[in-house]
Amino acid sequence: MKKLHEAYQERSKKINKIEQLKELNTPKAVYDNLQAICAAGYENLKDEDSKYFLKCFGLFDKNDGTFMIRVRIAGGQLSIEKALVIGEISKEYGNDYIDITTRQQIELRYIKFENLHKVLTKLDAVGITTFQTGIDNFRNIVTSSFDGLSSDSFVECMPIIEELQGVFLHKEEWTGVLPRKFNAAILGSATNDCNIFGHDCCFIAAKKDEELGFNLYLGGRVGMQAEDINLFIKPEEVKEVFLAVISLFKEFGFRDNRNKNRLHFLIEAVGMDVFRDAIIQVSKATLQSGGELLLSNEHKINQDGCVELLDDKSAVLFSIPSGIFCGSDLIYSAECTKEAEGELRLSIEQSFYMVCKNEKIEQIKATPIYKKYEKYQNPYFVHQIACAGTATCSFGVIPNKPDAVEMAEFLHKEVPLTNAKVRMYWSACPKGCGIHGIADIGFEGCKAKDEDGNTCYGVHILLGGKASYEAKESRVIYKSIPLIEAKYIVKKIMLMYKNERQSAESFEIYESRVLSMLNNDEVIKKIENYH
Ligand code: SF4
Repeated sequence: MKKLHEAYQERSKKINKIEQLKELNTPKAVYDNLQAICAAGYENLKDEDSKYFLKCFGLFDKNDGTFMIRVRIAGGQLSIEKALVIGEISKEYGNDYIDITTRQQIELRYIKFENLHKVLTKLDAVGITTFQTGIDNFRNIVTSSFDGLSSDSFVECMPIIEELQGVFLHKEEWTGVLPRKFNAAILGSATNDCNIFGHDCCFIAAKKDEELGFNLYLGGRVGMQAEDINLFIKPEEVKEVFLAVISLFKEFGFRDNRNKNRLHFLIEAVGMDVFRDAIIQVSKATLQSGGELLLSNEHKINQDGCVELLDDKSAVLFSIPSGIFCGSDLIYSAECTKEAEGELRLSIEQSFYMVCKNEKIEQIKATPIYKKYEKYQNPYFVHQIACAGTATCSFGVIPNKPDAVEMAEFLHKEVPLTNAKVRMYWSACPKGCGIHGIADIGFEGCKAKDEDGNTCYGVHILLGGKASYEAKESRVIYKSIPLIEAKYIVKKIMLMYKNERQSAESFEIYESRVLSMLNNDEVIKKIENYH
């Protein structure tokens, strides 16, 4: 603990601007007064409410009198009743627009300021919360879309997620008190379909002396995979360990430079061993050293666009291009799911699955809503992520979502693939919300120069991120390529993959076998000489 105190003192000589805002009020006081705040009009909205307090409740000021509302959907499991209400709200108040996010959540956009309280009341009536989905809070806890349903599922995680939410959700003492955001994920199966190494706190399926549980990995963030802390956690110990980690982060996390105050930086300052000892001391649990990780399968969709599950069930994929969806289609999807006596599960790849009995698959596939999205059932859309981009994010350098769609359509036409898997993830700026750093092919938006020397939209192109069996960041192969040229480069990469892959191997395996053996110059030479 001494080292934690010293590290904290060293980084406590000043506090950042957000910490200064926190001293002006409490999140609870602002939330309790929300109806009056909305009634007073957007022109009277206080700066600290816009920049901090409303974000504690998932309300994001877009600086034009409208808000984005981020809805928490634990583990991506969305009930039919909730889906219908979210869809209706989107239609009535939010231009019938919805984004599906990489944390298995839904974002409503274009909500007028004066309607915020009304919308939250309608959501609350069916048990939907937006609490703590923004700024320095516990973000949505992520898990496999097939939690408890797949044949390689060892521990069902949803009950544990509910236990963890019980620690912090709607709790005043845990609202807006962290130094920075805190992302957690838990995976109880052998298939990593939830970017399990990419969070501040990751519980990953493991085995120790024939006992099933989790290995704990800590300190993940954009551009940095979480590291093994060498602790095996039994399912019944997860809550205590989680509480120990968040208590340490709350007490010792840095509050000066916001660019260097995620959990990773605290662990970096004191060392993993010190942090590990502190967890053991605070949790009071008798923890064992890490077990054997159980990740052994790759997340793949079969030729029918489904994932086979236990108990004669399947998950029917609805591949949503760039995660751009709408309230009307969410309502149709919920009705279709109800007819099929199924359930909805959102994915971190900004799409969703209808889980149903196998005998209902054809019924789902015959619906107009399935047919509307069926054309996106190809490898270029199925594993696609694209962050908000310039349309809705002030940090965006390129439009992004439309660029990702255009690239996927181009590639599907030029290099059609079957029985293949390639993950293309797009971020519109270096902040990397589109998790491009772990993609097979990642794109980071930037400015570029066209052949006449004029500034245009461009991307850095990255290759070789790993997410299935190990965590590995990709490497930048091309810098500042105009978007118009990027698609021809990627076309050649896809031709190489199509022609050189063994059987139905994924791009991730192909890259490990072929491209990872080459240095950057050799990769570029191979791409440029490929015909
Ligand atoms: S990566 Fe940049 S542009 Fe994309 S959502 Fe994040 S901050 Fe916005």
